[in-house]
Amino acid sequence: MNEQRSEHRFETVAIHAGQTPDPLTGAVVPPIHQVSTFKQDGVGGLRGGYEYSRSANPTRTALEENLAALEGGRRGLAFASGLAAEDCLLRTLLRPGDHLVIPNDAYGGTFRLIAKVVERWGVAWSVADTSDPASVRGQLRPETRAVWVETPSNPLLGITDIAAVAEVARAAGARLVVDNTFASPYLQQPLALGADVVVHSTTKYLGGHSDVVGGALVTDDPGLAEELAFHQNAMGAVAGPFDSWLVLRGIKTLAVRMDRHNANAHRVAEALAAHPRVVQVYYPGLPAHPGHETAAKQMRGFGGMVSFRVAGGEQEAVAVCERARVFTLGESLGGVESLIEHPGRMTHASVAGSALEVPADLVRLSVGIESVDDLLADLADALAARA
Ligand SMILES: *Cc1c(COP(=O)(O)O)cnc(C)c1O
Repeated sequence: MNEQRSEHRFETVAIHAGQTPDPLTGAVVPPIHQVSTFKQDGVGGLRGGYEYSRSANPTRTALEENLAALEGGRRGLAFASGLAAEDCLLRTLLRPGDHLVIPNDAYGGTFRLIAKVVERWGVAWSVADTSDPASVRGQLRPETRAVWVETPSNPLLGITDIAAVAEVARAAGARLVVDNTFASPYLQQPLALGADVVVHSTTKYLGGHSDVVGGALVTDDPGLAEELAFHQNAMGAVAGPFDSWLVLRGIKTLAVRMDRHNANAHRVAEALAAHPRVVQVYYPGLPAHPGHETAAKQMRGFGGMVSFRVAGGEQEAVAVCERARVFTLGESLGGVESLIEHPGRMTHASVAGSALEVPADLVRLSVGIESVDDLLADLADALAARA
């Protein structure tokens, strides 16, 4: 698999890594091994190393090897959700008395996990503006074990210079975690930029079809890989065989989907920036975005997520979400269909009153791969009609 990674380009690796035609039947797609246990040829006589599907399952192994190849790491681990992956990672990296630096803009569920659950194990955390490496340095303590970064961030599309923050973290003896959900490995590969671990909600672009919830971790550090694999089995929140198969299937078209997401989102962001009823647009592909140059340096494209603030405040932002017709009102992101949501009342309701609070007039779009003309017309209509 590592060989495959060096010989072939991303699009080829996405389709083939971890998947060879079934030796028995020649099936070109890995079977869904919907099974809990495996027959042993005598006590401890395992065929292919499989004994029980929490520990390992062939369909999940195919996905895990594929993810490792896509992110350029030696080990991939697939979980029941993005938050299950994060939980496993945080419990592996942190002990009571340790400290964690988190970003001031992140997925609301990540913040809730750290502030409401991880904190109860005696782990301290503080908030930095990770788009500024000096802000991260300012939050470091002798007991800091990890720095958490999300880039582009959710929902404000902030950009963190991964290589610069990796240097700050390494100098302090802390691990750098990058949530790569918004970019996907097609657009950005954090391990090559110095990150120690990559986190994914595979629910989003990797799955790509809004039909599965899953998560993943990838690392190139052999010791950390061993520890994470131990915790994955010990804690047990693994991806099931069918969910693993759905994510694998989604990944086969990741590159072509992302190219269209990038193109559509760019057009949408430009149209919104020119709209009189839009106060501000957050899209790293726009030259006016403060992270534009960093994004251009470390990403292959700017992604499919666009946020914007609507003139008229919270009520009008909610009304725009409810008036859209082609954009479906809903949480989540990264699927082929366009979604619209109000972070303040939906995905980020759990950060209200914290350092991560989002503007009340903010609308977030997951720009899908439909006809961009239909998407532009839908947004124009939703913004034109006054409540
Ligand atoms: C959705 C999401 C998560 C959480 O993943 P789940 O699969 O919903 O548990 C984590 N990080 C980011 C950036 C997300 O968008």
